[in-house]
Amino acid sequence: MNFKQIEKYAKEHNVPIMQKTGIEFLSKYIAENNVKNILEIGSAIGYSAIKMALVNDKVKVTTIEKDDERYLMAIKNIKDFNLEKRITLVHADALDITLDGKYDLIFIDAAKGQYIKFFDKYSKNLSKNGVIISDNMEFHGLVEQEERIPSKNLRQLVNHIRDYIEFLKTNTEFDTTFYKIGDGISVSCRNE
Ligand code: SAH
Ligand code: MG
Repeated sequence: MNFKQIEKYAKEHNVPIMQKTGIEFLSKYIAENNVKNILEIGSAIGYSAIKMALVNDKVKVTTIEKDDERYLMAIKNIKDFNLEKRITLVHADALDITLDGKYDLIFIDAAKGQYIKFFDKYSKNLSKNGVIISDNMEFHGLVEQEERIPSKNLRQLVNHIRDYIEFLKTNTEFDTTFYKIGDGISVSCRNE
């Protein structure tokens, strides 16, 4: 599939791929900061991994996806873009495996209830001056919404994101900046 087809597929199958402005921000960050090695948690069908790998040919992406169907679709899409050499797709639950590589950028875009665990686990894999970027920090504006959210599942999800934001704000090892871009993006750097 090409990007248009991937975007269409995502819409029709409810695959929550990154918003255009979000992926643009990420691509710009990668280009401007000379990011080479990226770890992504949550590949879905490979959309953001492919976009990141296409920033320039020095970029290498390792991306983890636990869902069988999405993993297979991601394999196919990565092949269609001829990026098998620069994108390594790992079929696993990110909390069940250990990687020993070092990454300039870790992009967290998976189960919202596990963001703190992903952060704690994979911050060991950050290279010096590396950053952790997280997606969906606003969750369609619901995170800052004061009124009670009617659906229990949605309420839970939003509370997970609020907990993660609190975790980032009170983290003494990392400084985090929050951006109102896409669905809300945070950038966390280790402080000196
Ligand atoms: N980054 C993708 C979208 C990811 S959607 C893009 O923008 O194109 C989130 C994905 O994370 C889902 O496909 C889900 O199956 C996966 N996921 C959720 N929890 C996970 C975990 N613990 N380990 C690996 N993948 C996970
Ligand atoms: Mg997302």
